[in-house]
Amino acid sequence: MSSDDPGMASLRKGKLVVISGPSGAGKTSICQALLDQVDNAFWSVSATTRPMRRGDVEGKSYQFISRQEFLTRRDRGEFLESAQYIGHYYGTPRKPVEQAIAEGKIIILEIDVQGGVQIAGHMPDSVRIFVLPPSSDSLRARLQGRRSEEDDVLAKRLANADGEIAAARDSNCYPHFVVNDILEDTIEQVKSIILKEGACT
Ligand code: 5GP
Repeated sequence: MSSDDPGMASLRKGKLVVISGPSGAGKTSICQALLDQVDNAFWSVSATTRPMRRGDVEGKSYQFISRQEFLTRRDRGEFLESAQYIGHYYGTPRKPVEQAIAEGKIIILEIDVQGGVQIAGHMPDSVRIFVLPPSSDSLRARLQGRRSEEDDVLAKRLANADGEIAAARDSNCYPHFVVNDILEDTIEQVKSIILKEGACT
């Protein structure tokens, strides 16, 4: 059967791709490129209790929900993984991911290290990639350039970055670390990792 055969998508086993990294490392641009360039790739829309920020679109960037709703859904087991990041909850809705995998799709999760560790435990054959900034100065410059956070939030995100990088290394849950210096090169690197791990044709 050729890979163009219409029956192929349903026979091919789906794959979960986790992209993690500190805030400002460029994860969202990388994920956007994967969605545009990788056949059969889909985005998992997380739920969060953080307030919307400039550029966010309800239902597309996130499902923006109350803390109460988040905790209720978490207690019902509706999240595949969940974590607290700088005072807010984030979680991956379980059903759409399980459905996409059953349909042979590549599902992309942009989640933090705590979530990546949980996914590594539940789904060891997921592809897990950690994106590093070229330097702390570049991370600061990118976050400041984004102008989407108040100064105090931005300071907390920066302060969190070193801990996240250390946690990713110590966890041994990320077989792949990529340094995002030139975005186009990083995208190619990430695509080739996904390809090697058998997640796309
Ligand atoms: P932001 O507030 O910048 O959108 O996201 C903050 C952090 O939460 C980022 O590291 C992002 O990858 C992570 N994140 C987003 N959605 C989820 C999720 O569903 N689960 C977990 N564990 N982290 C998430």
